[in-house]
Amino acid sequence: MSSAWPSGAERRCLQASTSEVYGDPEVHPQPESYRGAVNPIGPRACYDEGKRAAETLFMDYHRHNGVNIRIVRIFNTYGPRMHPFDGRVVSNFIRQALAGEPITLFGNGSQTRSFCYRDDLVDGMIRMMNGPDDFPGPVNIGNPGEFTIRQLAELTLELTGSSSPLIEKPLPVDDPERRRPDISLAESRLGWQPTVSLREGLAKTIDWFRSVNLDDFRAPTPNY
Ligand code: UDP
Repeated sequence: MSSAWPSGAERRCLQASTSEVYGDPEVHPQPESYRGAVNPIGPRACYDEGKRAAETLFMDYHRHNGVNIRIVRIFNTYGPRMHPFDGRVVSNFIRQALAGEPITLFGNGSQTRSFCYRDDLVDGMIRMMNGPDDFPGPVNIGNPGEFTIRQLAELTLELTGSSSPLIEKPLPVDDPERRRPDISLAESRLGWQPTVSLREGLAKTIDWFRSVNLDDFRAPTPNY
């Protein structure tokens, strides 16, 4: 009987890991060799430590059972068809700007992130999955362009033509102060680097947000 599931060495198992494994990093930018600074008991800990434990398990299965693995550490990613209500910064800012509502900066907006357009991420992941078996990762896939959250807000206002005001809200506990991937490993082992600038990717994402009915994406109110 044939099966769609590949056998033997053709079987590759992806762990979609995250830049959160670096916590609130003391090393900048973050190379894969950096072991991170995660608060194990904070509100982000179940996610951060869960992802770290998943990497541990993947490496153990790889070492002890020969499982053919790939670990990709995904940095902040955005693009058309992201969930408009995922609560994250790109979707919040675009929705707020388009609705003319205040843009909510958590803290004073000086913290940084590096935003990777989804097509670049997918390209990096496919290269990793098709890459050599002696390179299981982990590998950083992200865009090394680093922006403050205030800069992201200002760019969103410019590209939407919105005049929403910026307002400051409390900074969440353990919110990483800065984040930028060191992608030299992905460049040298996979020949990968991102090609889409934040300005270009954000413009495409805003076009998509304009093209859909955002109400279609709201979670239905539970009918208890
Ligand atoms: N953030 C913000 N306003 C929002 C949502 C998020 O200023 O409405 C900030 C948040 O505090 C963080 C950054 O934007 O510093 C990225 O947040 P997100 O949840 O998108 O990703 P993560 O913190 O997981 O990188």
